[in-house]
Amino acid sequence: MEKIVFATNNAHKLAELRQMLGGRFQLLSLSDIGCHDDIPETGSTFEENALQKARWVKERYGYDCFADDSGLEVDALGGAPGIMSARYAGTHGDSDANNARLLRELGDSTDRRARFRCVIALLQGDALPRFFNGSVEGEILHEAAGCGGFGYDPLFRPLGWNHTFAEATPDEKNAISHRGQAVKALVKALS
Ligand code: IMP
Repeated sequence: MEKIVFATNNAHKLAELRQMLGGRFQLLSLSDIGCHDDIPETGSTFEENALQKARWVKERYGYDCFADDSGLEVDALGGAPGIMSARYAGTHGDSDANNARLLRELGDSTDRRARFRCVIALLQGDALPRFFNGSVEGEILHEAAGCGGFGYDPLFRPLGWNHTFAEATPDEKNAISHRGQAVKALVKALS
């Protein structure tokens, strides 16, 4: 069976992809291929960061690979936190601090428009890199609601919804989410 690496160790993302890919590929994680590197993410866009991660694996480990990068863009903040989403308040992955900073920066701004974006970069064989995108528009609330999901989910209400991502079931979120869209496009291209 053809092997392909998903440049992540996130068990949730891996399980989701394995299910969506069916039996067509043997999907390997970074630890499956013995990659414990702190892969640099020094790009200035989601595309650059996703490609940088996929290239790292392809060039050093020789596997076909795809990698994702995602984050939140807030219009009134000129697109911030963007590629800094995971470490907006300084410490990587401190969601409470990131959400607190987001509310502080937005203050009582009436423009609360925002979107989640996800880009997946695929390096397969000798082909040029291919990119798969997803985005979901919404707005940033004045206070958090819900305890599901992760990251900025409690502050993000998708357009047309009356509840946040953190109040949605995983299936409800995946059906419209930035990551769900990008993953579906990737799976379609692979199968
Ligand atoms: P990653 O690219 O999946 O590691 O995501 C980078 C960061 O963007 C996360 O640490 C979160 O802060 C934010 N983020 C990405 N996707 C989501 C989402 O679906 N909900 C909430 N926050 C997200």
